[in-house]
Amino acid sequence: MTATAIADLNPSPRILLGPGPSNVHPRVLRAMATPLVGHLDPEFIEIMNETKALLQYVFQTKNSLTIPISGTGTAGMEAALYNLIEENDEVVVAVNGFFGERMCDMVHRCRGNLVKLEVPWGQVFALEQIEEILKKKVKLLAIVHAETSTGALQPVEEIAKLCHRYGVLLVLDTVTSLGGVPVEVDRWDIDACYSGTQKCLSCPPGLAPITLGPRAMEALRSRQTKVQSLYLDLTMIEKYWGQERTYHHTAPISMNYALREALRLVQEEGLEARFARHRLNHRALVAGIQAMGLEMFVPGPHRLPTMNTVKVPPGIDEARVRGILLHEFNIEIAGGLGPLKGVIWRIGLMGHSSRKENVLLLLTALEHALATQGYAVPRGAGVEAAGKVYLQG
Ligand SMILES: *Cc1c(COP(=O)(O)O)cnc(C)c1O
Repeated sequence: MTATAIADLNPSPRILLGPGPSNVHPRVLRAMATPLVGHLDPEFIEIMNETKALLQYVFQTKNSLTIPISGTGTAGMEAALYNLIEENDEVVVAVNGFFGERMCDMVHRCRGNLVKLEVPWGQVFALEQIEEILKKKVKLLAIVHAETSTGALQPVEEIAKLCHRYGVLLVLDTVTSLGGVPVEVDRWDIDACYSGTQKCLSCPPGLAPITLGPRAMEALRSRQTKVQSLYLDLTMIEKYWGQERTYHHTAPISMNYALREALRLVQEEGLEARFARHRLNHRALVAGIQAMGLEMFVPGPHRLPTMNTVKVPPGIDEARVRGILLHEFNIEIAGGLGPLKGVIWRIGLMGHSSRKENVLLLLTALEHALATQGYAVPRGAGVEAAGKVYLQG
């Protein structure tokens, strides 16, 4: 067989304002091009230790098992659930969007007894509803902090207290919150928490930071059966990240370089300043969207600054609008998933993508794209409203 020549890799310079990946800082890209060392090289072990310390900072925890799992956010989800659930354990999953549904699928796959707690997509859970279900003999409650499919932010501090009053472990998905909005693992007393690298940490996809607190470690140590997945077995992985440094699988070296650099950027900016930046850009975007006569999908108090969901006005072909943004402006945003397909747009403002110039460009581009569909807004109304937010700070 003869191979035809394949052209050089030359992707368009996209502005990534979808549900992830977000744009990656040039320093992170440079770190990925650094020559490899071995996964047991003393220099790599030093890099692992530094990464662990940086992850403890972003998760705001002293938990010693705070490491990146090899794999994307979904691997973090499986690691958390597979390591803590055994056959016939009673597991409650709170579902208010796509990723809650995914956790239910995983509970079935590890043969837990699933109790599904639901509110409509876009809403958040009330304490009373959760307390009711925890009164039954439950081992674990899994819930999503930042539902990327809906743009809703679930308050979790009080839920954690409730869980512990009933002796229930709390597993929290912070894939779209870590590094963008506060996640305080120790102060909130979260038992297990995982994330992904390509959302608010602005690193390419490929690793899933995870942290396990004392109750979760106890549950892991007192398992009667082996963890179903060898690759995600934390009892084995912790020996590679701990004192023993026992080979388990070859760490993805370049991805670990990237994560370390992305976390260094978070540390340099400081968590508080980073959260403030995400809030400001979110407020500016919302002001612009509303000035254009569009409506946000999630009610004010529960809006996620990192994932902004906007209702598609009647009569607008939402996919065509996204096509114009992508092909004419190099901007990626996303449509809705499942029941929200065709109903909302999803605009991510995560990590390195959460910037003033992106907000202002998007509002301008969106005005143009909507005008081609016959939806006219006063010229520059979105940008003017957003600009006002920036001026006032
Ligand atoms: C993106 C996402 C995931 C899955 O992460 P992948 O990196 O796509 O595997 C899980 N949970 C939430 C809330 C997410 O936004």
